[in-house]
Amino acid sequence: MHEMDKKTFKKAYVNKFLEMHGIELKEGNKQQKYDSLASLVRDYVTRTWLKTNKKYNKTGEKQVYYFSMEFLLGRLLGDALLNMGIRDVCKEALADVNIKLEELENLEQDQALGNGGLGRLAACFLDSMASLNIPGNGCGIRYKHGFFEQKIIDGKQVEVSDDWLKEGNVWEKRKPEKAEIVKFGGEIKVSEINGHLNFTHINFEPVLAVPYDTPIVGYENEVVNTLRLWSAEAVSNEFDFSSFNRGDFLKAIEYKNSVESISQVLYPEDSFYEGKRLRLKQQYFFVSAGVQSIIRHFKKHGKDIELLDEKMAIHINDTHPTLAIPELMRILLDEEGVEWDTAWRITTNAISYTNHTILAEALEKWPVDMFKNLLPRIYMIVEEINRRYCDELCVKYPGNWDKINRMSIIGDNKVKMAHLAIVGSHSVNGVAKLHTEMLKKKEMKDFYYLYPNKFNNKTNGITHRRWLLKSNPELTKLIKDTIGDSFIRHPIDLKNFERYLNDDVVLEQLGKIKKFNKEKLANIILNNDNISIDTNSIFDVQVKRIHAYKRQILNCLRIMDLYNKLIDNPGFDIVPRTFIFGGKAAPGYYLAKNTIELINNIANKINNDCRVNEKIKVVFIQNYRVSLAEQIIPGADVSEQISTTTKEASGTSNMKFMMNGAVTVATLDGANIEIKDEVTDDNIVIFGLNADEVLNYYQNGGYKSIDIYNSDVRIKRVIDDLVNGKYHSDKEKFRSLYENLITYNDEFFVLQDFDSYLKAQDKIDTLYRDTNKWQKMCGVNIAHSGIFSSDRTIEEYATGIWGSEVIYKNL
Ligand SMILES: *Cc1c(COP(=O)(O)O)cnc(C)c1O
Repeated sequence: MHEMDKKTFKKAYVNKFLEMHGIELKEGNKQQKYDSLASLVRDYVTRTWLKTNKKYNKTGEKQVYYFSMEFLLGRLLGDALLNMGIRDVCKEALADVNIKLEELENLEQDQALGNGGLGRLAACFLDSMASLNIPGNGCGIRYKHGFFEQKIIDGKQVEVSDDWLKEGNVWEKRKPEKAEIVKFGGEIKVSEINGHLNFTHINFEPVLAVPYDTPIVGYENEVVNTLRLWSAEAVSNEFDFSSFNRGDFLKAIEYKNSVESISQVLYPEDSFYEGKRLRLKQQYFFVSAGVQSIIRHFKKHGKDIELLDEKMAIHINDTHPTLAIPELMRILLDEEGVEWDTAWRITTNAISYTNHTILAEALEKWPVDMFKNLLPRIYMIVEEINRRYCDELCVKYPGNWDKINRMSIIGDNKVKMAHLAIVGSHSVNGVAKLHTEMLKKKEMKDFYYLYPNKFNNKTNGITHRRWLLKSNPELTKLIKDTIGDSFIRHPIDLKNFERYLNDDVVLEQLGKIKKFNKEKLANIILNNDNISIDTNSIFDVQVKRIHAYKRQILNCLRIMDLYNKLIDNPGFDIVPRTFIFGGKAAPGYYLAKNTIELINNIANKINNDCRVNEKIKVVFIQNYRVSLAEQIIPGADVSEQISTTTKEASGTSNMKFMMNGAVTVATLDGANIEIKDEVTDDNIVIFGLNADEVLNYYQNGGYKSIDIYNSDVRIKRVIDDLVNGKYHSDKEKFRSLYENLITYNDEFFVLQDFDSYLKAQDKIDTLYRDTNKWQKMCGVNIAHSGIFSSDRTIEEYATGIWGSEVIYKNL
């Protein structure tokens, strides 16, 4: 959008407003002003979108389809403006008519079709694919209700249904002409025609999958890619119901409800899975619609089906979209008449899989009966895949039935999705070095020996466009003023910033920018949560899903300990600190909800105790989400990444924080290790058990939390404080947290890591007092964050897995 100037933009905006609302701009309300701005920007985007699609059709470049059950996009307006290269022009044009761009941007509802890191990763990847000129498409579900809104009432989490579509969504385009039919239930009739087996699906329940396309704008490169989300609808009467029972009114209603429930709501669990039939239905629904539309598009352009895998790649984000494997097989076999071996070659060449976790409770395994009943033809295909694969295993490991059983796709009356994903794809990747090593050496050891070449690492990343350029314009300006703007296209160039860290003026600037962002954050906290905080205190932040393995409880215990110390010794000298928490708990996850309640009760106690509240304060910011993360992270001094080592596959908020100049307190888990390797030990504070020590405990036992409780008075005291009424009038309130740590022997080694965590925090206190040194540490973190741009990650996927070309433009 090089031709756009302020005057043109202003004129277009005023016209758009009039056209949409039939009144003058000055009479309009904010929502109307947002609507017309978003529509105008959408119109601009649409022109480029058309051009991109035309280009793709002409060149026939290999298309990548990123299948994910979650896309956590957040807001789109600011990002679209930034990537179109017109954010400044827009801002100035609006200022001319007395409108603050940020105010309008803040009216946009977050698109929260995801839970946390996994969904946000998918969103960052879309941004990077578009910005690197990779023909990359997202494929997922258009949930009518995304991730719930969190309210904190009396210290407790209350879930409110997310109604993100209530004001409409200008970014999506419904494409009814591209709808697909997805079939559930029924039976398979097998017949033989000319010596060929034919499989006919009868008595199924048809579901109409209607796509809604959202533009994904590349950064100043005239590329707009597509995120296609599917919505489930009842098929219309024109559909041939001969194999489907109709005429009965109640049945028709029942049918409609059953269909619409499919894309009604996102499951709010993160790193946890339940064998719910509706979830399996959701998975097949979007995967089937997605694969069908890919093939339809491919054939429309008259290409030979046997070349399919040269022209497209399907990536599956975790095991949730694994049914893409048997679905692609089904279409090739039953609809395209391709022989099994060829179909299998095409499928495995086309598909690649990312593993996101080694937590046992997150591994998907579907009961055979449920699976077979819901997806009879897909089940037959999975059985055949398993039969052929087990035949191979028998040849490789003759007589080793234990091993063959353990590695099979179907066993113990379950379909094991991770096994299907590994067998049916050509690439299996972990998301950080440690995680990939553990997949190879432990969790998927058998598979690694069988298919050593499939396994590879792709350390996660974040888009620096949203998480630096857009969320932290002041810091971006300082970086541009020092090292120039090459880092925008080549984030690795941020390294050049390190050269300026001996310049006191630059360090002072860094400090001022942080202070400015802290003041903005303090205001948000005042407005949202009604707590006033001291911007001279250290902003110590842990924001992420609430989960036992992420150990918010460890953070709580050290605050409780610090509180004890300050009460015992009023002269205890610390740099004032503000402890900031945020994050949602799955509605059915009692322990996580109990943790939120504990944090809020600690906050209540400490913030109202005038003996300490000048020195420490605790804040739980409600309703943590992408748009809030963009405002919190630039204002953080300390980034808390304190998961039990081996449990956090990568983490991505750790990267966002370092890029915004926070110092990390971390265990050597996930990508924290790679962050440490980048910034060196002097610029990060590491604590806790290492991976070998944790694995050793899990393997050989020997950990006894009660012994630590009995031998460390500080620990005994804070643990007792959980159940002596200090933080709640109901003494039993936090009993479950207590029992987890003591009675059930502390599965996540909280007590074990407590002492070294406290020492790490003491070190932060000492470091922070030396302002120059601290600013320098922040600067080193910024300078070394470039490698964690998702552009680097996507380049690795593109060249190492998808076989797509990566072309830079406007170098
Ligand atoms: C980045 C991000 C996450 C992931 O955070 P982790 O600390 O890596 O778990 C979760 N939620 C939101 C809103 C995010 O922006």
